[in-house]
Amino acid sequence: MDCELIQIDLVPYHFGAITEEARARVEAHLLGCPACLRDFIALKRSMEAPGPAEARPTAMAKARLRKAVMREIGHEDPGVSWAWWERPLAVAFAGAAMLAAIVLVHGVESAPGEAPHSLEAPQR
Ligand SMILES: [Zn+2]
Repeated sequence: MDCELIQIDLVPYHFGAITEEARARVEAHLLGCPACLRDFIALKRSMEAPGPAEARPTAMAKARLRKAVMREIGHEDPGVSWAWWERPLAVAFAGAAMLAAIVLVHGVESAPGEAPHSLEAPQR
C-alpha cells in the first residue's frame, strides 16, 4: 500500500469526509504502518489538542476547514462526487466509450456498398 496515498486521505478521514471503502483502507493501513499511524496521531493532536484556548481552532475555523477539505476532494455536491481513487476509473470508462464511438463511426463511414444515407440520390 502506498503511504503517500494514505497520507492524502488522513485529513478527510479525520473529518469523516471519506467513502466507506477509503475509510476501511486507511484504517487497515494505519494498523499495519506505524509511520502513517504516527502521522495521523500528530494530525489529530494538531486539530484537537486541548491547549491554550487561543491556540485552539474555533468551531467556526473547524467548520471552514472541513468545508475546504470537502471542496478539495470534490464532495461539495454529493450527487456527483467521486473519491480520488474513483476518478481514473471514470476517465478510463469515458475513454473506452469514446474509442468505441470512434471505431463505430469509422466503421460506418468506410463500410463498402450502400451509402449510409438512404435518401441520397443514386449517382449515375
Ligand atoms: Zn504507511
